[in-house]
Amino acid sequence: MQPSVDRRKGKTPVPKLIILGSSNAIADQNHENTHMVILGHERSILIDCVSNPIVRLRMAGVELDNLTDVILTHFHPDHVSGVPLLLMDLWLLGRKGALNIYGLEHTLERVQKMMDFYDWSAWPNFYPVIFHQLPEEEMSPVLSSQEYRIFASPVNHLVPTIGLRVEFPQTEKILAYSCDTEPVPSVVNLASGADVLIHESAGLSRGHSSAGQAGQVARQAEVGALFLIHYPTNGSDLSQLVEQAQQTFQGPVALAEDFMELDF
Ligand SMILES: [Zn+2]
Repeated sequence: MQPSVDRRKGKTPVPKLIILGSSNAIADQNHENTHMVILGHERSILIDCVSNPIVRLRMAGVELDNLTDVILTHFHPDHVSGVPLLLMDLWLLGRKGALNIYGLEHTLERVQKMMDFYDWSAWPNFYPVIFHQLPEEEMSPVLSSQEYRIFASPVNHLVPTIGLRVEFPQTEKILAYSCDTEPVPSVVNLASGADVLIHESAGLSRGHSSAGQAGQVARQAEVGALFLIHYPTNGSDLSQLVEQAQQTFQGPVALAEDFMELDF
């Protein structure tokens, strides 16, 4: 499966994944904080929400009315700081339909407190926002439709965090996303037999993984291809990251880049 960068508006085949940001917590002009969207016929799903979210969604050709779901992986600013602005902008744009937000209790409790600081209950004619609390258990079902089956598992980061497995029943393709984590068996399980694993490579530190460790997880899970994400962008030699992952994983490895698209 080859990534292709394509900024045409909308008309390309779905379902597809569009990377909206690929950087670690310190973004630069070419790499927004890590977040992504899955586009389908019936549901479009934003995974994490940063910066000014509707700008990147529109740049990627996403119809905002078609955004049905937001999965929040954990409560760190480089993953959830865009939530208040997304919710407010959709309201100002006249949204009527419900928006579903999924996450662990630790995440959703704080997101709702964050919104309470903005007094969002006093915003008139606000559309329904439905919170779906996920249990801290491996392979918890997140949502299921004709187009997707999505599962979440706890991973090992600095705060409670989930990684994701997205199965596309119509094409029998599988996508896995580690989110922020040290190498852990739950990510190997999430990614088991996946066509694509998107794995963080922030570096060797507590709660994160190096590119070499991402390669090890890819090898253990026997995935088809590995994309590195959440990497340091400020002056780092990014070509080294791919080489490091190739030392531990024999399959194709590439950097996830902003606006990269993968068809499923
Ligand atoms: Zn984090």
